[in-house]
Parts: sequence; structure tokens; C-alpha cells
Amino acid sequence: MSDVNRRNVPDNLCPIALDYSTLTTGDWRAMKPVVSRDKCVKCATCWLYCPIQCMVEHATWFDANLTNCKGCGICAEECPHRAIAMVEEVEG
Ligand code: SF4
Ligand code: SF4
Repeated sequence: MSDVNRRNVPDNLCPIALDYSTLTTGDWRAMKPVVSRDKCVKCATCWLYCPIQCMVEHATWFDANLTNCKGCGICAEECPHRAIAMVEEVEG
């Protein structure tokens, strides 16, 4: 804990609210989005709808930053060109 002086913090607060978590939202994902570069027309609809803004722009397509993507599937639902498939994660 760097910025907060613990002596000023009531001891009945949940410690999760005081310490920055190093967990990334991609750690517990069960499904991941896979973008077809042939189908993607770079309309950015997925970028607009992703609730954590983890769609990344490339030269001619968008793709998900899988470090943060939580696999909710909203991008695949909203893609007007059906360019995103949700694929099951495999233990690696
Ligand atoms: S919404 Fe679909 S077509 Fe549009 S940029 Fe995203 S992946 Fe590509
Ligand atoms: S699956 Fe959810 S979190 Fe991941 S890129 Fe799509 S909308 Fe964003």
C-alpha cells in the first residue's frame, strides 16, 4: 500500500478496498474471442461495446487484448459481420 496511511484508515474496512490487486481480468476467462481477419471490416463496433475497452486496433482489423479480456462475449454478439467467434479456453 503506497499512497494510503493505514493509521488513518478505520480497521473495519475490507482490505481489498485498500490494496491494489495485481490480478488481471483475463486470468479467470473460460471463453476467448477469436477475430476472423477475413470477415473483419474494422468497423470498431466491438471496440465500442467492450465493457472494459480491451479491443485493440490493428492495421486492418480489431483484436482482443487477452490479458484483460474477461470473455463476456459481448463483442461477438454485437459484431455486425459475425467476425468474432467465442472459443473455449484450454488449460495450458
Ligand atoms: S465489430 Fe466485427 S467487423 Fe467490426 S471491427 Fe469488430 S470484429 Fe471487425
Ligand atoms: S469478450 Fe468481452 S471483454 Fe473480451 S473483448 Fe469481447 S467484449 Fe471485451
